[in-house]
Amino acid sequence: MPKLTMKNQKINFHSQSLFVHFGIKGDRSISLKFKLLMVLFFSIATYGQNKQTIKAVGDLNYPPYSYLNEKGEIVGYGVDVAKAIFEAADLDYTIELSQWDTLLNNFDKKKFDAIIGLNYSEERAAKYAFNFAMAYVYYDFITLSSNPFMIHQDLEGKRIICVRNYLSCEYLNQIGFTDQVITAPNLSQGLKMLLAGEGDALMCDRKVAQYYIKKEYKANTFRSIPADLPPFEHAIAVHLDDPKLLLKLDKAFFVIKENGMLEMISNKWFGEKNYFKRHKELIYLLGFISISLIIAFIFNILQRRNIAIATAKLRASEASLIKEKEKAEYSDRLKSLFLANMSHEIRTPLNAIVGFSQLITQEDNYETKEEYSKLITTNSNLLLSIISDILDLSKIESGIIESESQEFDFSETFRYLEQTLRQEIKNENVPLIAKNPYNHCIIKGDRHRLSQVITNFVINANKFTMKGYIEMSYRYEKGGLYIYVKDTGIGIKKEHQEKIFERFYKVNEFTQGTGLGMSICKAIMDQCNGKIGVESVYGEGSTFWCFYPCEAEIEIKA
Ligand code: ADP
Repeated sequence: MPKLTMKNQKINFHSQSLFVHFGIKGDRSISLKFKLLMVLFFSIATYGQNKQTIKAVGDLNYPPYSYLNEKGEIVGYGVDVAKAIFEAADLDYTIELSQWDTLLNNFDKKKFDAIIGLNYSEERAAKYAFNFAMAYVYYDFITLSSNPFMIHQDLEGKRIICVRNYLSCEYLNQIGFTDQVITAPNLSQGLKMLLAGEGDALMCDRKVAQYYIKKEYKANTFRSIPADLPPFEHAIAVHLDDPKLLLKLDKAFFVIKENGMLEMISNKWFGEKNYFKRHKELIYLLGFISISLIIAFIFNILQRRNIAIATAKLRASEASLIKEKEKAEYSDRLKSLFLANMSHEIRTPLNAIVGFSQLITQEDNYETKEEYSKLITTNSNLLLSIISDILDLSKIESGIIESESQEFDFSETFRYLEQTLRQEIKNENVPLIAKNPYNHCIIKGDRHRLSQVITNFVINANKFTMKGYIEMSYRYEKGGLYIYVKDTGIGIKKEHQEKIFERFYKVNEFTQGTGLGMSICKAIMDQCNGKIGVESVYGEGSTFWCFYPCEAEIEIKA
């Protein structure tokens, strides 16, 4: 079974074969140098001779290399290159086109001097002398789009069409395809045969096939399958026994290559591709620079973003550090204030205790003695309360004592507190109004701590209210107990309202107290996730409130 693949096929350079023909072998560079010498020698030898006239013929059906255009003019890439070479070689020339079969027959009969485009093969090199390659020709298999063949191996054993006497036919014969090969007179006809189902694929020059398909058929009629062959050189060919003409053409080829004419013609016919080829390096370089610039730009943006984020973070941490520092300084000031305050607070009752204890021993009068004794008891109690406040606060804040949680009736606790506090405050000008809305209010919580908060509120209200009343009440709302103590006392200015819950803070340093009562209340509320606050109008009175989160079973008073 003949195979379509031709592996390890060497790319042929006909210039080398030409020298083989002249009996000279060697590597390509040596051959080229030698050839140039020959061209030079020949130029000198022929200098001053008469102009030679040659007749050249090209394939009528080989667009875009040689063909008749719509106006009937002989045109094509090969035609233009041939003209340029003939002119550079200072030859008078005529160019004609004819059917390929006729062309080869007439050339063999020496009816003309040059073929303006022949694809190179070793076999042809034995018959014709080739000029340098003006183009490289690639071979494809063209098949109908509806056919299932995808790669050239799929075509093994299939019927292949080729153009008679074209290199593709020679090649198919060479690899033993004779049985399945169907010949067509020209490529246009070959495509029609393929469409009529006379063959499975057509082997031909890629560019020529593309030209016909684009011109004569719909876009998806055919599909190309690369033949996987190396490219063949396409060049002017002359008779083997006319080395003078060949050397003239070789010399002229170098001239049109050097002066840019060849490139111009190539641009004219295959412009876009060549433009890319010509500027390939430049385009790659521009691409590389653009990509580098884009990467640098993105990198720059990312860097700026990172710097902006880092700066923002630094600023934020700087701000929080300043805040912390201010807090530390403030608490340091408070601590100093507290120590001064404490020493005053502690010393006052202590001095009284020590002083009156000494006096009581020297006093004989019973009534005076009793007076002193009362003063000692009052001051001892005050001292005790200061010390127990400090201990209490530190215990709550350090979490040494956890809040107890037990079920109890808060309305009962409220009634008990009302009675106790009434005893405590005893100010006729300022009555204590207690509003207990429920018969029962069963909650789960820390009875002792809640009582402590309410007591603090009422004691303070009593301390700072000279006329009017004090009202204590509570209600159950939104998942907790809202408890408040309202007074008609001196009130608290706005700027002090938040601060009074801080440790050791007193609006007036000379009033009695440690400045710890509200801090203890806040610590208690914090511990049970509750809330605490004050609403106050300076000179009119204050309402201290707290919210103690809990479930409650309540019985409202009738
Ligand atoms: P103290 O034991 O010194 O009273 P607190 O923490 O209980 O400390 O109170 C802090 C400060 O808040 C008091 O010194 C006082 O200036 C202010 N204050 C508290 N309750 C009232 C109130 N009902 N009316 C006016 N000012 C009050």
